[in-house]
Amino acid sequence: MDDGSPKTDAEWREFLSGEEYRVLREHDTEPAFSGKYWDEKQPGIYRCRGCGSPLFTAAAKYDSGTGWPSFYEPADNGAVETETDNSLSMTRTEVHCSRCRGHLGHLFPDGPQPTGLRYCVNSCSLQLDQTEASGDSLSGDEPNSVSGEVSDG
Ligand SMILES: [Zn+2]
Repeated sequence: MDDGSPKTDAEWREFLSGEEYRVLREHDTEPAFSGKYWDEKQPGIYRCRGCGSPLFTAAAKYDSGTGWPSFYEPADNGAVETETDNSLSMTRTEVHCSRCRGHLGHLFPDGPQPTGLRYCVNSCSLQLDQTEASGDSLSGDEPNSVSGEVSDG
């Protein structure tokens, strides 16, 4: 459905709805409790609305009470990237898709264990994919020995 090649602005406008475009391409934020996934509890993989890249798993989703889908970790360390956002007179950590650079939301250090992180993501940046919910391609079973240290290689 997507070859991963960069889209032009006109192509993005055609591909995305108005609200999706404003969030993904212009770093807008959807109103709290307005998106389709903030209260979603179905298993699956949350893919990037812009490029289909797997960003978060439903297993890492939790109820933050904020009105936005919240995850304590991305599906893969390379799935998302962060950068410092100094807009609105605040210093926040912006989160975007590492593949298409679409804006997803912000990262806060007040999440639950094991990471203590809260990826606060706009629903319209995401697309829930339930076809891989069986876990065949996503084996989350890692050896217990790797807990603790996080190496960023
Ligand atoms: Zn993307």
